[in-house]
Amino acid sequence: MKNINEILNLKNINVLNFKYFNDKIEIDIELEKKIQVCPRCNRETDWIQSSRIQKIRDVNFGDRKSYLNLHKKRYKCKFCSKTFLEDNNFLNVYQRMTTRLVNEILLKLESERSFTSIARDYDISVNTIIRLFDKIQYPSANLENVEVLSIDEFKGNTGGEKYNCIIADPKRKIILDILPKRYKTDLQIYFYKIDKKTRDSIKIFISDMWQTYFDIAKDKFKKSKFVVDKYHWIRQVIWAFENVRKEEQKKFSKEYRKYFKRSKSLLTKRFKFLSDEKKQEINIMLYYSEKLRVAYDLKEEFFEILECKDRVEAKKKLTDWIMYAQGSGLKAFEKCAETFVNWSTGILNSFDTKYTNGFIEGCNNKIKVLKRNAYGYRNFKRFRNRILHMFECKKRCLNIT
Ligand SMILES: [Zn+2]
Repeated sequence: MKNINEILNLKNINVLNFKYFNDKIEIDIELEKKIQVCPRCNRETDWIQSSRIQKIRDVNFGDRKSYLNLHKKRYKCKFCSKTFLEDNNFLNVYQRMTTRLVNEILLKLESERSFTSIARDYDISVNTIIRLFDKIQYPSANLENVEVLSIDEFKGNTGGEKYNCIIADPKRKIILDILPKRYKTDLQIYFYKIDKKTRDSIKIFISDMWQTYFDIAKDKFKKSKFVVDKYHWIRQVIWAFENVRKEEQKKFSKEYRKYFKRSKSLLTKRFKFLSDEKKQEINIMLYYSEKLRVAYDLKEEFFEILECKDRVEAKKKLTDWIMYAQGSGLKAFEKCAETFVNWSTGILNSFDTKYTNGFIEGCNNKIKVLKRNAYGYRNFKRFRNRILHMFECKKRCLNIT
């Protein structure tokens, strides 16, 4: 029994019995008898009145589930007759699980795994796992020390909303909060609660080209520079190009289509980095379509803008590009040019900073997996806590390094 005691590694207990089954182990334990202090009169006593068995779940023993039968003692005060239960240090408020089991479960909940799958590890009910998790409540965003604020939406399908909102600090790589809605009034109310001085210390506000985000930035983050996330405005051009490519490709007869095999990946690459052979392939494709030729040229010119080292240079090239796109006769690019005109300041501001919504983008991918594993979340509060719990881990890791 002494060896079992060592393996069990719980302090101040005696092992009374040990049973070993195919799928589980059962260990009878008791706390060492010791002198107790009466909670009523503060005098010492060691008088045991009774004992009852309490079943407790512990961390798995190899691939076996492990159950502790605690013979829990009730003491009685010799002086005032008050009865009370002994105190132990390995159980907590949950009582039916050891503290180390709870910690292990909470650690597993930092992954994208579902409640159901974690419950299965221990043969504990899903509701128990959820109840345990629901004790964790992450507070709303603390914007102190945040210099760069990045905001975006993601398809959460939770709390009756298709899109939920995510705010992050891309500089320190922290998820600040998850909001149920991305509507103007909701965001206004949310940010209004954060004191003005803290909001004013935010230097950069990054978002996509959604008017509401822009309005919030102007209204609540007056001292910040509004930046349109680079990926979002670059994507517009990629989409415009794809649009033209698909339209043009449809027009070709079967005979010509053979030249367009693998065209998507080849056409989106930078021309200057291609081998002579590939360049030749491109030239053949472009030979058959005037529209594709123009679109391709616009795409290549656009990449030149991205290579600009500073804002001044970028501004000049972007202005030229917009004019070129406006006169291109390609609807998709005309629309793109219009968007760029409307958002030109935010777009040019993105040349002044290295920060983007790339960090959020990565987090959204993890959220997607979390959601998929659970076949979706209905309860927004729980979903939010799960997301924040998942990224807490990352934050700690960053603090160590
Ligand atoms: Zn007493």
